[in-house]
Amino acid sequence: MERGQYNKNDIVTVMIEDIGNDGEGIGKCDGYTLFVKDAVLGDTVEARITKCKKNYGYARVEKVVTPSSFRVEPKCRCHRQCGGCQIQAMSYERQLVYKADKVRNNLMRIGGFTAGLLDEIMEPVVGMEEPWHYRNKAQFPVGYDKAGNLVAGFYAGRTHDIIANTDCALGAPENQVILETVLAYMRENGVSAYRENEGTGLVRHVLIRTGFATGEIMVCLVINGKRLPAEEKLVEKLRGIVFEEGKPGKAPANKENAGKHIASISISVNTERTNVIMGQEIRLLWGSRAIRDSIGGLAFSISPLSFYQVNLGQTEKLYSLALAYAGLTGKETVWDLYCGIGTISLFMAGRAKKVYGVEVVPQAIEDARENARLNGISNVEFYVGKAEEVLPAFYAGYGYTDKDGASSGVEQEMTAEGAAGEWTEQDAVCAVTDALPDKKRHPDVIVVDPPRKGCDEKCLETMLAMQPDRIVYVSCDSATLARDLKVLCGGGYELKRVRVVDQFGHTVHVETVVLIQRKDT
Ligand code: SAH
Repeated sequence: MERGQYNKNDIVTVMIEDIGNDGEGIGKCDGYTLFVKDAVLGDTVEARITKCKKNYGYARVEKVVTPSSFRVEPKCRCHRQCGGCQIQAMSYERQLVYKADKVRNNLMRIGGFTAGLLDEIMEPVVGMEEPWHYRNKAQFPVGYDKAGNLVAGFYAGRTHDIIANTDCALGAPENQVILETVLAYMRENGVSAYRENEGTGLVRHVLIRTGFATGEIMVCLVINGKRLPAEEKLVEKLRGIVFEEGKPGKAPANKENAGKHIASISISVNTERTNVIMGQEIRLLWGSRAIRDSIGGLAFSISPLSFYQVNLGQTEKLYSLALAYAGLTGKETVWDLYCGIGTISLFMAGRAKKVYGVEVVPQAIEDARENARLNGISNVEFYVGKAEEVLPAFYAGYGYTDKDGASSGVEQEMTAEGAAGEWTEQDAVCAVTDALPDKKRHPDVIVVDPPRKGCDEKCLETMLAMQPDRIVYVSCDSATLARDLKVLCGGGYELKRVRVVDQFGHTVHVETVVLIQRKDT
């Protein structure tokens, strides 16, 4: 059907036959495709058209005529406005099917893998036992609502309008009392919130991170300035919170809700007019610089600027799978690219000879080194830098020095390892002169866990040149995963195992772990 048959604001009845990338329902009206926000697969809805393009349009549910059998009562009153939980109205079981399908479709469409191969190797999706209150980190924007009231909550989907909601169904239950306490401190001390349009006002965001295994809570206020008025009052108020222990139905999914306490209160200075939430300068107001948590028996120290997986229980499953896919026996050299605070590196270290971690955020590497010490692990080395720069520099044998001037450059490392008979300059010569590939220059395993944009081309190219026996790819975006796997499998690797692990229930996001293996091994 041609454009012109429909107009903006038309009400149409449509049956939802598919789910889009952002969780929206997809249906057809006389052959014209509509992407319908808030519709669930299997619904028949009355929808209002919000935008018409030539071959497709966008619409919003006005009324559910016949609800889908997958439709459930959403837990959160804000779920339609908030951009966070796109698929909360769909049963959790169906969400898992949707996520597995999404990964599979991307692997076929973008990666070029066949349905037959995927049928054979894709393992069952790993879901959560309790898909609520699982997030250990939340960043709440602080501002004013339309009536000018001071509020904290979430941005309404695709906007920067703040919806007041301190009771998120995905976050730690303690977040609510912490946020209300921060707001009370602001009101009592005349502290302003940031006005994004004008670039004025002080408090921009509140970051709250909880170690679910230890009960330690970090509160970090992101401010448009250097100091807050009456900072001691904020500290006093936050320290005075008595957490309700083990409130029924409110406990995080993974651990009992006991022993929660604030362990770190800090300020992040962000005076830039930017969408980036955190400012680089962190000033501790009270407590320790970092909080502790533990995964799979390992202790981790996490500071405000470091990445840390948001879902503790599922992370343990994800890392265990990555470890199993790596197939370690104790003799292997492993690279962990995009290593964050070294979580995967330390998971692997117990079963490998040597692990090298690479990460671009210097504070995360500081945490990673501290984490190695905390756990008494000495066969790991961490480097600050971009994977696409550190790895080629290492491979080329030129050595590498951290941008921050830290002493643990690869150059030094190579000399040290050289003495132990590995990674010497001589190897580089051998690689050129020997007909056989020089095994010593090949790490046995490379693990990558990049952000959503995936791996840089230079990084992929170097991985291929290094010819590890196995590559374990942990991905939070199956489209870039598929794109990168196409390059790697085009360069002599075979897709062996794929497993989807749901870290982010009720959202469209999903984690995937993949094993690819060099064809001649
Ligand atoms: N493996 C870690 C972190 C994964 S998140 C974990 O499981 O906790 C991805 C990490 O990659 C982040 O810490 C981010 O800071 C880092 N990063 C982003 N771009 C990078 C790049 N080009 N090179 C190295 N690290 C990068």
